[in-house]
Amino acid sequence: MAGLYLHIPFCSQRCSYCDFYFVTTAMSQDRFLKALVYEIQHYGREYGHREALETIYFGGGTPSLLPPGSVRILMDTIHEAFDTSGVQETTFELNPENGTPAYLEGLLAAGITRLSIGVQSFFDRDLEQMNRVHDNREAREVLRSVNDAGFESYSMDLIFGLPDQPSEYWAANLEIAISFDVPHISTYSLTLEEGTPLWKQVQRGQVQPQDDAAHADAFEFTMEYLTAHGYEHYEISSFARPGHRSRHNHRYWNHTNYIGCGPSAHSFWWSGLPAKRWSNVRNLKRYEALLSQHVPPLEDREHLGLDALADEYILLQLRTDDGLDLAELERRYGVDLLTEKLSVIAELEQSGLIHPLRNHTVRLTNPGKILCDSITSRLLPD
Ligand code: SF4
Repeated sequence: MAGLYLHIPFCSQRCSYCDFYFVTTAMSQDRFLKALVYEIQHYGREYGHREALETIYFGGGTPSLLPPGSVRILMDTIHEAFDTSGVQETTFELNPENGTPAYLEGLLAAGITRLSIGVQSFFDRDLEQMNRVHDNREAREVLRSVNDAGFESYSMDLIFGLPDQPSEYWAANLEIAISFDVPHISTYSLTLEEGTPLWKQVQRGQVQPQDDAAHADAFEFTMEYLTAHGYEHYEISSFARPGHRSRHNHRYWNHTNYIGCGPSAHSFWWSGLPAKRWSNVRNLKRYEALLSQHVPPLEDREHLGLDALADEYILLQLRTDDGLDLAELERRYGVDLLTEKLSVIAELEQSGLIHPLRNHTVRLTNPGKILCDSITSRLLPD
């Protein structure tokens, strides 16, 4: 079963930390919709007969700048182009300022079953620093509306480690999220991406970034607090009440196939070696122009052999609570990590960074999750 990702590249304004591809000019959506519909139909012809869809994801940019009628057109196109009889989850990224009860009703009618809400913080000071469109009042209002609307599930994003963010703000953000009984919370440590407005402010000394120790403290607090309140910490950034894990994101961690449509979208397909990964152009006008001539809007293509796939699998699986199954790694990728890294594994276990091996599976402890990147690089094959 495959996944389908649609990248909707419009945003009202630029968030200060954002590195995704988007446009803020008031461009007509009609040309984009036409191009996207064509691209979905194209992939339906090429891949639709190979695997049925299991998950659909509208990401961005800001999908909630699309009127419900356009979401309906895209959903109808997907149903016509692919076998959607086994779809288990259709997720839609929603910004709080767009989530009126009427809009939510339109999304439900179009077939959206799950929302991912970009709250980021409940404090106006943080939201202003991030240059988000919404304020704290709208963030609370959208959660009330979503709780009343009848979606199967929803998630909200929160960011910690903002420059000069008081530590009590982070604890309060988690407490408020829980007070709304949010079924899934994604928490992200702020990354200062080069070239973003926030990165420039830090370079000019206008704001003070938090150091690694402060990020680690906030992450440790998050793990303890959310698991104590009934959330399963099933991936480094993801916490879910039982039954509310994201199926779509699971595809990325497990090397299952997905098709990405829209400018900058990535795709991955592995039906024999080498596996294929490709991405679309990061330019809306070019994307539309190429598709209007029926030319695939591709920017990069790469072929991946077993070695590269094994490295990715190790990196992604270590982030999950299922952990890295060494027997599965050897079966799928031909890498015998248990023999190659026996001493590293023993050392990590002794330092309390991984749990004692059970069923050949390496699973990070909470202190290990804080050091996930460095542990991963120690475990990658030489
Ligand atoms: S709404 Fe999302 S994609 Fe758009 S600028 Fe903000 S963070 Fe980036």
